[in-house]
Amino acid sequence: MKQDYYEILGISKGASAAEIKKAYRKKAIQYHPDKNPDDKEAEEMFKKAAEAYEVLSDDNKKARYDQYGHAAFENGGGFGGGGFGGGMNMDDIFSQFGDIFGGAFGGGGGGFSGFGGGGGGRQRRVKGSNLRIRVKLTLEEIANGVEKKVKVRRKVQAAGVSYKTCETCNGSGQMTRITNTILGRMQTSTTCSTCGGAGQVIDKRPAGADGQGLKVAEETVAIKIPAGVVEGMQLKVSGKGNEAPGNGIAGDLLVAIEEKEHDFLKREGDNLHYDLYISFSEAALGSSKEIDTVTGKVRIKIDSGVQSGKILRLRGKGIPSINGYGKGDLLVHINVWTPKTLTKEQRSFFEKMAEEENFIPNPEKSDKSFFEKVKDMFS
Ligand SMILES: [Zn+2]
Repeated sequence: MKQDYYEILGISKGASAAEIKKAYRKKAIQYHPDKNPDDKEAEEMFKKAAEAYEVLSDDNKKARYDQYGHAAFENGGGFGGGGFGGGMNMDDIFSQFGDIFGGAFGGGGGGFSGFGGGGGGRQRRVKGSNLRIRVKLTLEEIANGVEKKVKVRRKVQAAGVSYKTCETCNGSGQMTRITNTILGRMQTSTTCSTCGGAGQVIDKRPAGADGQGLKVAEETVAIKIPAGVVEGMQLKVSGKGNEAPGNGIAGDLLVAIEEKEHDFLKREGDNLHYDLYISFSEAALGSSKEIDTVTGKVRIKIDSGVQSGKILRLRGKGIPSINGYGKGDLLVHINVWTPKTLTKEQRSFFEKMAEEENFIPNPEKSDKSFFEKVKDMFS
């Protein structure tokens, strides 16, 4: 479960914009990588705080988060995407929020750092590429939420590989060139072509590793899938994509959701539809039926005199909303089964009944037509 953004920053839900900024600045300085070199936990906290601030400092994103929680950003569907799916990389953080905590450290704001020319002051970190997989889910799994274990072939740093500082750029990842123009001396920075901006190059390359010191390895990744996901949604498992060389950060594993067709339930948003067939006798006499739903069996009562086409709405027996607010309904469509053949005896019975007054159709206002029912269903 993802940690609450307010909790990460240590503030209450009603915090003002100024309080949010202040809280973030405090966390950013506490977990700043310059202060916590090679401390993975601090780096995680630093990133988490930045992610929380990115959302809570933006009125629009904050409103969505307050209403829907993390679900507002994590999936491509639902809210028109536009999300920021968590897990910012260090570059994003320094370029977006550098000014907030920059003052506390040498680099940051550009100030007086002679080299690197104010480009955020820190070395760029290379990010590994993302991996994409599809996961097929049954309606039952979607209704209840599920953990799926998938085998992923990802690039990881090979055992025994080592990296050294790039000599071309001295580890900055940038090449600075000074040219004399008619306007005076101009300084331009470009990405180092030797290391591709990583600031590091491979030193020892073990057998079987590629030019970046990476090797493909098979790994089993557990993916927690929340209830209510929809076909086409994309979930993200941070850091389970390909690793990057040197001190780069791993890419993400992007999980596309697919929905398997169900044998007898049809999904429509969070609602489910079920076609129930009953006999003439059951329709006339009334009955009680058991229905298999995505969360177990449900028994429903069918009143005597029920009409074919009636829809029984079982509240809350559908799919939970991905936002965590409520559940859809199960709509049971009653179909009265007309016998396709009759014995001699049955035939004479129905012939007799044809003349009976209560066998002649006489719909009341309350026996809505099919079209009115459909209209109701969507309202
Ligand atoms: Zn270089």
